[in-house]
Amino acid sequence: DLDSVTPPLPSISSFRTERRWGDTTSYAGKKKLQSWYQLPNGNWELGKILSTSVTETVISLPNEKVIKVKTEDLVPANPDILNGVDDLMQLSYLNEPSVLYNLQYRYNRDMIYTKAGPVLVAINPFKKVCLYGNEYIEAYKHKAVDSPHVYAITDTAIREMVRDEVNQSIIISGESGAGKTETAKIAMQYLAALGGGSGIEHEILKTNPILEAFGNAKTLRNDNSSRFGKLIEIHFSETGKISGANIQTFLLEKSRVVQCTEGERSYHIFYQLCAGAPPALREMLNLKSADEYKYLQQSNCYSITGVDDAEEFRVVKEALDVVHINKEDQESVFAMLAAVLWLGNISFSVIDNENHVEAVADEGLFTVAKLVGCCPEELMLALSTRKMRVGNDNIVQKLTLSQAVDTRDALAKSIYACLFEWLVEQINKSLAVGKRRTGRSISILDIYGFESFDRNSFEQFCINYANERLQQHFNRHLFKLEQEEYIQDGIDWTRVEFEDNQDCLGLFEKRPLGLLSLLDEESTFPNGSDLTFANKLKQHLSSNSSFRGERDKAFTISHYAGEVTYDTTGFLEKNRDLLHLDSIQLLSSCSCHLPQIFASSMLNRSEKPVVGPLHKLGGADSQKLSVATKFKGQLFLLMKRLENTTPHFIRCIKPNNSQSPGIYEQGLVLQQLRCCGVLEVVRISRSGFPTRMSHQKFARRYGFLLLENVASQEPLSVSVAILHQFNILPEMYQVGYTKLFFRTGQIGVLEDTRNRTL
Ligand code: ADP
Ligand code: MG
Repeated sequence: DLDSVTPPLPSISSFRTERRWGDTTSYAGKKKLQSWYQLPNGNWELGKILSTSVTETVISLPNEKVIKVKTEDLVPANPDILNGVDDLMQLSYLNEPSVLYNLQYRYNRDMIYTKAGPVLVAINPFKKVCLYGNEYIEAYKHKAVDSPHVYAITDTAIREMVRDEVNQSIIISGESGAGKTETAKIAMQYLAALGGGSGIEHEILKTNPILEAFGNAKTLRNDNSSRFGKLIEIHFSETGKISGANIQTFLLEKSRVVQCTEGERSYHIFYQLCAGAPPALREMLNLKSADEYKYLQQSNCYSITGVDDAEEFRVVKEALDVVHINKEDQESVFAMLAAVLWLGNISFSVIDNENHVEAVADEGLFTVAKLVGCCPEELMLALSTRKMRVGNDNIVQKLTLSQAVDTRDALAKSIYACLFEWLVEQINKSLAVGKRRTGRSISILDIYGFESFDRNSFEQFCINYANERLQQHFNRHLFKLEQEEYIQDGIDWTRVEFEDNQDCLGLFEKRPLGLLSLLDEESTFPNGSDLTFANKLKQHLSSNSSFRGERDKAFTISHYAGEVTYDTTGFLEKNRDLLHLDSIQLLSSCSCHLPQIFASSMLNRSEKPVVGPLHKLGGADSQKLSVATKFKGQLFLLMKRLENTTPHFIRCIKPNNSQSPGIYEQGLVLQQLRCCGVLEVVRISRSGFPTRMSHQKFARRYGFLLLENVASQEPLSVSVAILHQFNILPEMYQVGYTKLFFRTGQIGVLEDTRNRTL
């Protein structure tokens, strides 16, 4: 009897206060029902109600145990008929245990995708599931199946791009290891299958192994963790074929090149090169095995279970061929990688009693010099001294051991980061949209998710800032703009409150007294230190409710996804990201072409254009944009681009921390659902009108389906006649001033009829 399970519309007024528990329908008098009971360990158990009163209820738990509990501690469970519904909107009782149970029910049956209103929830299976490949693609393309899937949401994006002539975006979020990158690849696979034909789709798919080799690494959370953010914009021609693509990357974690935690690895490509380079290349690069390089030794981890680095190297080389990076350039790329590895092996010896050092003229030094194309003496000098301008004089300062090591590591990091950027640039050239550019596109965003570790540094600070921005985009689309549109168009609507993160974003972005401004200011002070920075934050930001100063050099931010305490150690240096001019000069004097390109791109990144010969540039590096400011700029541009698209959101969920199949930890899943506001989205969608179309467009699109003539040709009259003919119930739509608004799924029958008729 389906009538009895028709979802009660959520009570709007109780929305905010009942955020955690959802509908708390009274249980008194309802017998034979099921309800959720929370065990002391926090997990929820389904109990059968044996008897109940206003204060006390007797329930039997799955283990046959019968217990007496306070009635108010019970949370209503849905009838069995709703087990495993594929859209959480269909649940009669929308509360946390019910949502958790529904997702788990599906997960246990390998149904890893579930809709939460307009949002697709994807739970990482950590095993191969039979849901992908040509058969499935065909099925979704022909709408032979309609269960939630990345294919389905991608299909919707294509259809809406064509139907509305608006660019689309697929925004994938979730914690590290939740499955974002895999999901992005699945979406790309579908786009390539539907929009293929020109051949460029193969190239687009081959960018994945390249970017993953150079930008992913094994971390404690994910064996293939992306250490950069990525937006890929896929362009379509008028005929719906892929005509090209463009990739933008964000903030590669370059510290990983020179330091890496026990049990983690540096970027995959280093191990792939060491394991897979053929003999001639090995000889040319003087290549050793991975365990002979200091940079790779420190984490004491060289391999990943189930991964053959040598084989991966062949895959990457093939992919480089496909995106038209010629053999010569490929060799230069490998030479740069080897140079980075050998840089780490360069050591220093003390040369005077003031602890000044000099690079040792050993195999490392000679090999690096050969690989980049400079003479060993120049390299030695660049790593052991610094040219400075004092007044009108140029002086040469010798470096101490820690200064020299920093200089060496900064050079290694910069070479790697420039190499990564250069590769992306080459890939973009290869994928460039031809002359017949049409402007319709679908973008897929795969950006690092919210991170909260025991110790959080500058990297987490930037990543979590990016996530605040994305969360605001999510909120704006699913809550704010949605409701503003209802009200503007005059439909009957009671406003629903939602968690706004504007306070926290303001904390970052306010000028002059925001986190980013204060960081930049302190970074430019010669005497600024992590401690003075931390103190400034405490002095200026303590009145902001999202900020809390901590002991020592730490501070806490209340993010939408939870509190994170940051340790400011290294903040200023990472934000300044200085590469000394001596190093840039060294690169620009190299005979190999990549170092030269890197040197000029480093100089171009200065805020003001730098003119004149290099040796006149004393102190030019201070003009460089700070890392945080550059990142903020990138995020603004990203948001601007996304604002002009129709967004489709996918929330990836990590069901356990051990990367194992079949383990579903309720607490872990719940925390992820809470922080991305899944329940709120479902509530709004259930009571809202997510589909809308202007009267004109509606009349134009479906008018020809009318069986009887309408007296007036006025769009609204035509529209109403169509609605009547198709029996769309009055509670399923609203007529606004300019648009028609529909509840989910209502327009489907019209579209189907239209497609059949056309
Ligand atoms: P994220 O990008 O969110 O950090 P990944 O996409 O790299 O996470 O996923 C981490 C790992 O989880 C993958 O390497 C893969 O082993 C597994 N995984 C993720 N999604 C799927 C999927 N749909 N099917 C099978 N395994 C998956
Ligand atoms: Mg990833």
